[in-house]
Amino acid sequence: MSDKTRHEGHHIDPDDWDDFATAMHGVLDACLARLQAARDLPWQPVPPGFAETVALDGTAQPLPGVLDRMTGPIMAQATGNTHPRFWGWVHGTGLPVGLAAELVAATMNANTGGRWQGAAEVERAVLHFLRDTAGMAGDAFGILTGGTSQATILALTTARTKLFGAGIRQTGLAGLPPVRVYVAEGGHSCIDKALEILGHGTDSLTHIPTDAGHRMDLDALRARIAADRAGGIEPLAIVGTAGSVGIGAFDDLDALADLATAEDIWLHIDAAFGFWIQLAEAPWRDLARGIGRADSIALDLHKWIGVPYSCGACLIADHDLHRAAFTSRPDYLASGAEGLAGGDLWFCDYGMDLSRGFLALKAWAAFAAHGTEAFGRAITDNCRQAALMGQLVEEAPELELAVPVISNICCFYPGKADPADIAARLQTEGTAVFSTGKVADRPCLRAAIVNHRTTGADIRAAIDAVRAAIA
Ligand SMILES: *Cc1c(COP(=O)(O)O)cnc(C)c1O
Repeated sequence: MSDKTRHEGHHIDPDDWDDFATAMHGVLDACLARLQAARDLPWQPVPPGFAETVALDGTAQPLPGVLDRMTGPIMAQATGNTHPRFWGWVHGTGLPVGLAAELVAATMNANTGGRWQGAAEVERAVLHFLRDTAGMAGDAFGILTGGTSQATILALTTARTKLFGAGIRQTGLAGLPPVRVYVAEGGHSCIDKALEILGHGTDSLTHIPTDAGHRMDLDALRARIAADRAGGIEPLAIVGTAGSVGIGAFDDLDALADLATAEDIWLHIDAAFGFWIQLAEAPWRDLARGIGRADSIALDLHKWIGVPYSCGACLIADHDLHRAAFTSRPDYLASGAEGLAGGDLWFCDYGMDLSRGFLALKAWAAFAAHGTEAFGRAITDNCRQAALMGQLVEEAPELELAVPVISNICCFYPGKADPADIAARLQTEGTAVFSTGKVADRPCLRAAIVNHRTTGADIRAAIDAVRAAIA
């Protein structure tokens, strides 16, 4: 590192690009080796002293050592969701092609909030693909987000713009009637959070009881809407669930769409992982029938599709209304006829972020490389694996199925054992990752299978391990 290279415009880039290239090839090799060995690399507890080893003091360290620390101790401390027996919470598994997309995206360093650039066309292509997968009408559009939580905020903001007009962007909530959002019991907490952030508070969310098939009870919904209207409360949205986080239940989306149309209420669907069941074989694919009739859909690409974190999407049927809810072009963001200020598509008009990365590339790479058929097969396999787990649980005298398996989630009670103890033990041993939940107010073990590496043998081994842990 000679001093003469450290001058204006040269403080940051490598002194020697050949050396940097050699080091980067080493990084890529280490990353590929880790992915190739994913089956042998379960989660491991964070070792004592790890926090100190990554503490920063502001001094520069030689690059080879920095790269080694990233591919060594830091990479080893992954969540473990690249492992085939990881079924905790709802974690995507990742995609090897995602590595390529992240490298290219980091190289371009595109800021996709605006400007006339090809990256916007890539995002448009991904959104059109998602719209067509949902079966939404041709003028539906949307935006990629950090996940379903953010997409839910965008969707409900747009619903509110429809209800009260874009003027509330100036006037705010003062003077508005109270609003209500309806979701089935078991709806995700991101809906509560969205209502907190939008200023309506969680009291504006009502959980509607479910029927024997764990779908929102439509008579109860109708009655609640009527009571709210009689009490001066404005229905803001009905939130249909396509894949509940707890048990993988699906509302009857067609019936919800009929009801929402008849009542003239915005229909939003939380389809974080369940969106993708549309790619599965029958009977699973039919669970999401009617999803394309929604006014808005929130979904994730980082869960069942395995696009590297983070990547979700908000789809909105009314393109103009979506823009009306978010567009804001002060002088320094004026568009032009030519040059970088040109282009008809600036994503800052569709959401909260002005500066934003090239999320679309990793999603585009996933679908370009694998198509819907391979994903459909992996998703069908996961549903079959959840059913297999349910069957093994029923055959084991000491285990008890908590609820019949509907899609890709299996919940069961480990006899008299504490589910949290069993889960922690199998996680720590590196055998399998279950998380815990509650069904019928009783703690259970829960496997949410969105893992393209899982096999039937993994399911059998994990249930054997649970039984051994109980014994
Ligand atoms: C994960 C999940 C969410 C939240 O999505 P994020 O991408 O984590 O923000 C919402 N709803 C359901 C059903 C989920 O599984």
